[in-house]
Amino acid sequence: MAQTTELTDNAAETKATTTPRPRKVPRIVVLGGGSVGLYSARRLRQRLGKREAAIVVIDPRPYMTYAPFLPEVAAGSISDRDVVAPHNRALKGIDTLMGRVTQIRHNDRTVEVTPEIGEPYEITYDHLIVGLGSVSRVLPIPGLAENAIGFKNVEEAVAVRNHVLDRIIVAASTWDKDLRQRLLTFTFVGGGFAGCEAIAEIEDMAKSAIKQYPTIEPGDLRFVMIEGSNRILPELTEEMAQYALEEMQKRGIEFHLSTFLSSCEDGHVVTSTGVEFDTDTIVWTAGVKAHPVIGESDLPTDKMGRVTTNTKLQVIDAEGTVIPDAYAAGDCAAVPDVHGGINGFCVPNAQHAVRQAKLLGDNLASVLRSGELKEYSHKNLGTVASLGLHKGVAILFGSIKLRGFFAWCAHRGYHLYAMPTISRRLRITTGWVSVYLMRRELVPLGPLHDPRAEFRAAAIPPKPKQEQASSLPDEAKAH
Ligand SMILES: Cc1cc2nc3c(=O)[nH]c(=O)nc-3n(C[C@H](O)[C@H](O)[C@H](O)COP(=O)(O)OP(=O)(O)OC[C@H]3O[C@@H](n4cnc5c(N)ncnc54)[C@H](O)[C@@H]3O)c2cc1C
Repeated sequence: MAQTTELTDNAAETKATTTPRPRKVPRIVVLGGGSVGLYSARRLRQRLGKREAAIVVIDPRPYMTYAPFLPEVAAGSISDRDVVAPHNRALKGIDTLMGRVTQIRHNDRTVEVTPEIGEPYEITYDHLIVGLGSVSRVLPIPGLAENAIGFKNVEEAVAVRNHVLDRIIVAASTWDKDLRQRLLTFTFVGGGFAGCEAIAEIEDMAKSAIKQYPTIEPGDLRFVMIEGSNRILPELTEEMAQYALEEMQKRGIEFHLSTFLSSCEDGHVVTSTGVEFDTDTIVWTAGVKAHPVIGESDLPTDKMGRVTTNTKLQVIDAEGTVIPDAYAAGDCAAVPDVHGGINGFCVPNAQHAVRQAKLLGDNLASVLRSGELKEYSHKNLGTVASLGLHKGVAILFGSIKLRGFFAWCAHRGYHLYAMPTISRRLRITTGWVSVYLMRRELVPLGPLHDPRAEFRAAAIPPKPKQEQASSLPDEAKAH
């Protein structure tokens, strides 16, 4: 049974109690410290003094991740630490709680938080902001959960990078032809933005990495993209998506369009079109869905499990009635797009999430001061994608089409500008300069993901000599 926890109005200090104290100032609880959580909390703090509202951000991670740079993290062009904004520095004057929100009971104005260590507890609030984002949409495909990895967060991007570099180095010392082919086959499922940027960046990195291993030829690498629809990059026009497709095909990346992954048990891929091959790497980028805790809550949701809102970012029910004290934005929310969007709703991207978050902060501050609420209206600035070092594709302001180097510059420039905190922008720029001057670092740090392995092995008591001898084959014993 979860305990009810009361926060002090101004500090992150918590203490367990069963009867909540009356609060001196209203408490705003922000679920998720990603794009929506970070920007809405910061805006609220700018607008409201500490005597006007206490703000609490809850997230299992102590940092916000700028996801558009994840493909570059996986490719080693940006350091993992530089794409995250630590909450303790970015959220000055705001309380943070580290833990997973596991229940939302808005009728009771209560959320349950499950910390990494310890019992779940509950906290109460006066106003709620839901910014839980999305999770990978993992389908019940045989072998998928056991063998694939997502590409949604910095941990996954770093793991993919280390895994790919590790497979290259292992393959370089392997003479078994089939094993080598399996190790050097890298499969991506889902040709949207995340998938295409990831495969293009990682293929580019892999080609650079194999220069260090004379036993591996560029033709030994096999990169495969499996995509269910008949085109990639639906966010771009057909013409620009076709350019991106041809650019990647020229580099040898294999595309299977109108094709579904049927199974991947033990790394043996079978597609709906009958293609079969063995792979040691499956990256799943075939879409996302709203955070599942929302579907289990008493907040109204649409068919896709997103919280429904009006254009003022207030949560509304199916009849359009405002649910008091609840607000939502970003990937987990169905926010109407006055400029069209997809089926009339904003597409789930950082461009919308950040702008919605700022407006949400303004609107909630207005509610607390009995002011007017504004409507969300943002016309897409454009779409930029990186396809590896010095390669890209972009459409700016609906009509300016860029290809190759200029598109890549637009991608880097836009996302650098959008990256939160000046210190992160400086770190990323410095990193790019050092990569340019000294080449990117391509050392695999696979053991990073199981640092205790060597220690565990050292702790195993040595076998007694006699046992060692009896475990040797007969011919060896004879010598
Ligand atoms: C690889 C990749 C590339 C992308 N490229 C682009 C791009 O080029 N351009 C673009 O505009 N958009 C891009 N996006 C999309 C963009 O990153 C998202 O749309 C945006 O981050 C959504 O913001 P959000 O606040 O809704 O969710 P997020 O930023 O994902 O934040 C959700 C937060 O909730 C936290 N959380 C999760 N579970 C819980 C829980 N149980 N309790 C509490 N907190 C929880 C998470 O830790 C996270 O901090 C990309 C996304 C990915 C994955």
